[in-house]
Amino acid sequence: MSIRPELPIKNLTELGLPELEALFASWGEPRFRAKQVYQWVFQKGARSIDAMTNLSKALRTRLTDEGYAVGRVRVGRVSESIDSTRKLAIKLDDGAAVETVLIPMGDNKFSQCLSSQVGCALDCQFCYTGTLGLSRHLTPGEIVDQVIVARAHLPEGARITHLVYMGMGEPLHNFDGVIGSLARICDPDGLGYSHRRVTVSTSGLVPQIERLGQTVPVNLALSLNATTDEVRDAIMPVNKRWPIASLMAALRAYPLPPRRKLTVEYVLLGGVNDTDADARRLGDLLRGMAVRVNLIPWNPFQGPGYDRPAEDRVHAFHRILDAQGFTVTVRVTKGLDIDAACGQLGERPTAA
Ligand code: SF4
Repeated sequence: MSIRPELPIKNLTELGLPELEALFASWGEPRFRAKQVYQWVFQKGARSIDAMTNLSKALRTRLTDEGYAVGRVRVGRVSESIDSTRKLAIKLDDGAAVETVLIPMGDNKFSQCLSSQVGCALDCQFCYTGTLGLSRHLTPGEIVDQVIVARAHLPEGARITHLVYMGMGEPLHNFDGVIGSLARICDPDGLGYSHRRVTVSTSGLVPQIERLGQTVPVNLALSLNATTDEVRDAIMPVNKRWPIASLMAALRAYPLPPRRKLTVEYVLLGGVNDTDADARRLGDLLRGMAVRVNLIPWNPFQGPGYDRPAEDRVHAFHRILDAQGFTVTVRVTKGLDIDAACGQLGERPTAA
C-alpha cells in the first residue's frame, strides 16, 4: 500500500476554500456559497450535507447526487483515565486506525494531541508507536477531523484550546498533510486557532524543520532525548541521518516569532540519558537559545527494556538545568492507565 493516501476529492473535509470556490463556479453557484459550505464543515463541524441548513435544497441535493460527503473519520472506543484524560480511537474509512488524546489543562480547557500518520517509520526505541512501523500518512482532512469529532467527547462547557502534533507519527514526515491541515486549523473561516496555540513536534528531520519555519509560524517542539550522537543513534535511528550538531543548527536558524520559545522535549530513560553529565551537556547544547525544556520521565510499555528514572534522578536533572537559567518543566504524566501518555499511542494486539 502506498504511504500517500489518495485524496478523496468528493469529501468536503479534504477541500480548501479555493477548491470549493472553483467547484461552485463550475456549477454556476455564487462565490459566497463556497464559504458557507467551508464554514459548515470546519467551523460548525457539520457531519452531513443535510445539516447545512442555509444552503438551498437544490444545492444540497446536487452535492449529494454528485457523491459529496462530509468527514472521513469515526470515533471508536473512548477510554477515560482517572485523571480525566480521554483517549479516542479514530477509525478511518479504509479501516486503518489512529488515536487522539484530550488532555485536561484545568479551567475546562483541553489540549488535544493529534496523530499525523498510521504508525510511524522513525523507530524511536522508547516509543510504542515506533514498533508498529508506518502504514500511511493521514490526509489533511483526517487530521482536522480528529479535532472536529473530539468536540463531542468533551465535558459540558469545555473547549479544546491548544493543539499539539505529538500523537502517532512523525508530523514532518507527512509534511504536506500537516501543512494542509494547518491551513484549515489556523484559518479564521476554518477552525480559527491562533498559530500560537498550535505546536508541531519532530524527532529531527532537519530539511523539513527549515521548510516548516518558512511556511507557517506555529510553535516547534524537538524531541531530543540525548546529548551525544552515540546515545541518540542508539535510541533514535533518525540521528544517524541528521546528527545533533545539524539539529542544533536548524533550531538556531528557526524563525521564531517574537516572545516565543522553542520546546525541547527530553524523555528520561533510567541509566541511559539521565546522568548529571547529560544535564550539563544539554545545557551546553541549548545555551543562548530561546527554549523551554520539557523533561518526560519515560512511560513504560512492554518490550524495549528501559526503566523509568528514579524520582531523585529527575529532580537532579531538573536542578542542573534550572541552575543554568533554563525554563524547565517536568511533564506530569497523564493518561498512563489508559496507554494515552507520551510514546504509548497505538492499538495493542488483543489477547487471544
Ligand atoms: S517518538 Fe514520534 S517519531 Fe519517534 S517513533 Fe514515536 S511517533 Fe515516531
